[in-house]
Amino acid sequence: MRTLEEKILNEGQVFEGNVLKVSSFLNQQLDTAFLKEMGAEIARLYGDCGVNKILTVEASGIAIAIAAAFIMNVPVVFAKKGKAKNLSDKTYSAEVKSFTKGVVNTISVDREYITSEDKLLIIDDFLADGNALRGLLSIAKDAGAKVIGTAVAIEKGFQGGGDALRNEGVRVESLAIVDEMTDSGIKFRQQN
Ligand code: 5GP
Repeated sequence: MRTLEEKILNEGQVFEGNVLKVSSFLNQQLDTAFLKEMGAEIARLYGDCGVNKILTVEASGIAIAIAAAFIMNVPVVFAKKGKAKNLSDKTYSAEVKSFTKGVVNTISVDREYITSEDKLLIIDDFLADGNALRGLLSIAKDAGAKVIGTAVAIEKGFQGGGDALRNEGVRVESLAIVDEMTDSGIKFRQQN
């Protein structure tokens, strides 16, 4: 998405440890008009694929998931972070190493919200090493749900998580792919 690339160039800040900060529109302040545009693009990519539910993870995935869900007219389920006590038989869960915080979080979804009937689109804000998407894919698998594909706003292609998933046959759609990110600039991957 050309407009997302421009927004990253204009508003993004590169931090040590390969962290791209886009808090002005995606991670703290939410640019609702722009979220709507990103949601529309995801809805265009997955519009005729039979998706009946979107799965994401709190907190930063929720806004873009909802933006797409409004247009696709489907519900959003978000995995919660942190261990719920004595709920292991009532939830599907996965361990996810947080890229930005370095800690391992348990993420979980109540079993009643994902079933083997579901055809899921998995959405997140960023894709780096791929741990968050893999955690969500694992939850979907445990529930017996079909995963139609995944979508993220920003993939950091140089970290390899997205291409590893593509090589395993997972459909990964990224609205922008950053292939290089240094003090002197950001380079994007050309996408069709
Ligand atoms: P992964 O699990 O693919 O390594 O990283 C994706 C998750 O880490 C996303 O849920 C996102 O919240 C966070 N993340 C990874 N890289 C960045 C980044 O450069 N900037 C921001 N704001 N979040 C990131």
